[in-house]
Amino acid sequence: MKGTEEKKADGEMRASEREAAMRDRIEARLAELPVMQYAFIEIRDLEFEDRVRYICETECSQYGRSWACPPAVGTVEECKKRCFQYREGFVFTTLSEVPDIQDIEQTLATRGSHEEITRKICGFFKDEGEDVMALSTESCAICKTCTYPNGPCRHPEKMFPCVESYGILVTALAEKYGIEFMNGGNVVTWFSLILLR
Ligand code: SF4
Repeated sequence: MKGTEEKKADGEMRASEREAAMRDRIEARLAELPVMQYAFIEIRDLEFEDRVRYICETECSQYGRSWACPPAVGTVEECKKRCFQYREGFVFTTLSEVPDIQDIEQTLATRGSHEEITRKICGFFKDEGEDVMALSTESCAICKTCTYPNGPCRHPEKMFPCVESYGILVTALAEKYGIEFMNGGNVVTWFSLILLR
């Protein structure tokens, strides 16, 4: 008869086999999408810094204007605690080429398709029974005018807070997992993080 330790090891083995099979199925479905790079990440590899939040506060016009941005998303410490409630993460990038990357309007016009891909990949994980939380690009642009701070978010299930709004050092995370953050010339690199549990 197997002892408690052996049963525990068997259980862990089965869980890791299930996880590997799930990853294989997700990878097969990713082939349908124009995803440039992706990686499954350890939650402990997320680095949170107040200085990222400082940049939102001092350099972004969306600060204090959306449920997807600070201060609505909570303090960096609260965001960190929220992320650490998840088992692992999945990061990916998509690329868009624009005539002039310095032109913010042109750049932002390409963002919608990345958000749609983020929504599809969340769906892939949900089909696997995962509870997901996605952090994506820039501020939310679903509604013409955000209800913040006068009323609740109209589409909390569709809205993705910005990765940087959580105080996450995106470039450090990308570097750790070999994901290119700059793809040169007039190529815009869009980045999302999906947390899983
Ligand atoms: S879905 Fe609408 S209300 Fe909610 S954060 Fe986005 S713009 Fe604001």
